[in-house]
Amino acid sequence: MRLSNGWVRQAVSEAVSAVDRRWLVRALTLAENGLFTATPNPRVGCVICRSGRVIGEGWHRAAGEAHAEIIAMRQCDNNLRDADVYVNLEPCAHEGRTPPCAPLLAAARPARVVIATLDPNPTVSGKGVALLRDAGIDVVVVPPSDIIFQQALALNIGFVSRMVRKRPWLQLKIAATLDGKTALSSGLSRWISGERARIDAHYLRARSCAILTGIGTAQADDPQLTVRHVHTPRQPQRILVDRHLQATSTLRLFAGGAIVASAQSVPDFFADGVEVLSLPDSSGRVDLLQLMCELSARGINEVLVEAGRRLSGALLAAGLVDEIVLYQAPRVFGDSAFSMFDAPAPSTPAEAPTFALRQIEPLGDGDIKIIYDSLTAQQQLTAGIIDAATAKNA
Ligand SMILES: [Zn+2]
Repeated sequence: MRLSNGWVRQAVSEAVSAVDRRWLVRALTLAENGLFTATPNPRVGCVICRSGRVIGEGWHRAAGEAHAEIIAMRQCDNNLRDADVYVNLEPCAHEGRTPPCAPLLAAARPARVVIATLDPNPTVSGKGVALLRDAGIDVVVVPPSDIIFQQALALNIGFVSRMVRKRPWLQLKIAATLDGKTALSSGLSRWISGERARIDAHYLRARSCAILTGIGTAQADDPQLTVRHVHTPRQPQRILVDRHLQATSTLRLFAGGAIVASAQSVPDFFADGVEVLSLPDSSGRVDLLQLMCELSARGINEVLVEAGRRLSGALLAAGLVDEIVLYQAPRVFGDSAFSMFDAPAPSTPAEAPTFALRQIEPLGDGDIKIIYDSLTAQQQLTAGIIDAATAKNA
């Protein structure tokens, strides 16, 4: 992290007042409306205020549709005189599917623009801020130490990950017992957690761009991996890791299309609507990092993994697990049951993969939802946002 750069110091060190904080929270709340639909674009909300009164609001619904800033500006006939504009992400300055927002904002001449996070894309980061400042508009950027920055990062964690690391944010969902077991030695694993955990897991699916599973789970449980119990106009992409192409075309997750990642060469035909990727690593397994890079190139921001111990263990060993959502049920399966990760043991406790506790939520029926984050992943993304702006302005 190169924090010595003058531009970044100026950009991120300004204090956030209580009033600004209130409207940034509102912008974040609006942005959340695009939680299930904005992909591959970021979730963005915008609030425009004059004399403490809201004169325009907007949020970005889907790629190809108007950006949040434009929708909010329309509500006040593009008259931003003496107004303050609040956005959770730096207004875009590059030509995309729609005209860029920053020049339009600059032309409408608001008094101030307050931004929760800079654009993480290294090729455009800082451009929106520079354009607004060049037009004489006061721009405030929230510093990374502020909770608002962290909330804004969390809302677009997959988009930021794709821009900074060229791979999606990978979230692993696990239902386990009190003793950390995910299946009995007989293989029976369904219904470890209760109804509330199962419905909650559909929210995780709905916000994900893709759901990843392994051939073991696909053959044992034949899951559909679709969003149910939650209203959404969009279903995530289904991805199956199947090293030897053992899957049969009748698997339910293939209905409506899917991607299979294999270590075999691609066959002429596999199953209707199913694309096969050949991604072997040097030991003949599926190269999981390569798979993540491929998904990132296709605009996949967030990947939810619902897999058994083998694929979960391989992802953990490859250092690809960014977040774990654990639904812990108050049952004990004992020693012969299977654990969460089939991964090599570390030589010392200090070398074990370690996660930071983010959230604990009792679900009311005895189950507990626990969220753990990879600390390195969070740090990489925060540093990436700052570095992107620094590199641009160095
Ligand atoms: Zn825009």
